[in-house]
Amino acid sequence: MTIDNPIAEQIAGWLQTAQEAVVFTGAGMSTESGIPDFRSPGGVWAKYQPVMFQDFVSSDAARREYWRQKCEAHGEFGAARPNTGHKVLANWEAAGRLRAVITQNIDGLHQAAGSRRVLELHGTAMEIVCLSCERRFEPEPMMAAFRETGTAPHCEACGGYLKSATVSFGQSLPEAVLAEAWQLARKSDLFLVLGSSLVVEPAASLPRFARQHGARLVIINRDPTEQDATAQAVLHEPLGAALAEIDRSLQPRA
Ligand code: ZN
Repeated sequence: MTIDNPIAEQIAGWLQTAQEAVVFTGAGMSTESGIPDFRSPGGVWAKYQPVMFQDFVSSDAARREYWRQKCEAHGEFGAARPNTGHKVLANWEAAGRLRAVITQNIDGLHQAAGSRRVLELHGTAMEIVCLSCERRFEPEPMMAAFRETGTAPHCEACGGYLKSATVSFGQSLPEAVLAEAWQLARKSDLFLVLGSSLVVEPAASLPRFARQHGARLVIINRDPTEQDATAQAVLHEPLGAALAEIDRSLQPRA
């Protein structure tokens, strides 16, 4: 990344004047924190067949397999720390430059960096939820119990099945979060896509929707995306470096 990148300066200029800037982040946001894209080689789902939600609720063997995979995947999340990009976004929000972060990531790193309004479209791996009473629990004691007993944990309050508060295959996205994301996209005047290849829904549709409602679209991703041609600015750069560069180009707020 060059020191004087005119595209980064241009994006900084837009961010400066935007009233409703919104960020959308995908797996690429967390790769610099050492979390592999779960679909990529080396990701958990390259090795294992993910447990479908329907199987989870109907089979004890599926629940045990789910918890086995959960314990292994959590090792990757547990050690991960927010990277430069996460921190830049948290600072922008604190400075009033950013309305919200919409994310597909389940690693909790935006919140760990200090971002406050984070819409988790796929839920979070940082909590366990009871599928019956919706009580939430810390993951570590549940995983420890699973490792010890080999049985899938149950809710201590109601006996319901316990699962990561993530959206599994075959499970629908959280409606309220999704509705808020669409509303943010509609109102947005600057929509930044960070580290998403924009192939799965709603990742593919949200930026298009924002653009159709008047937002400038910026895409920063390692690889080209299908929406590059319709974006006002595109950077194929490592995210941390690109966001730091944009941040350096910002003028202090009056
Ligand atoms: Zn319960």
